Amino acid sequence: MAHDLFEAARTAMARAHAPYSKFPVGAAIRTDDGSVYSGANIENISFPEGWCAETTAISHMVMAGQHKIREVAVIAQKLALCPPCGGCRQRLAEFSDADTKIYLCDEAGIQKTMTIADLLPHSFQTEAIG
Ligand SMILES: [Zn+2]
Repeated sequence: MAHDLFEAARTAMARAHAPYSKFPVGAAIRTDDGSVYSGANIENISFPEGWCAETTAISHMVMAGQHKIREVAVIAQKLALCPPCGGCRQRLAEFSDADTKIYLCDEAGIQKTMTIADLLPHSFQTEAIG
């Protein structure tokens, strides 16, 4: 099922640029058309200029012309289950439905499945500014 998404996230994690935190993270997104986009965290010596794995994956997705996330897998080398940070929850919500699945993974595979609504209840909705 979603094992390929886990594999894509783990492969992406190996490409992380994390020389400062030494905390590699990988993420992979599947869109509603079945396409998979992955990313890793990319740090910068000016620390606030770095960004998360989920953000890299979202960037690849948007540049490919996709805008609807169905599933997301996240893995971190040094944390058993690594939920998306607050900023990434909002970024993922921008392109997700409430039931979009978030898979928290370790080296063995998917260990916990959540939804974006679980991770970001009462999220800021675009309708609020429409
Ligand atoms: Zn993040």
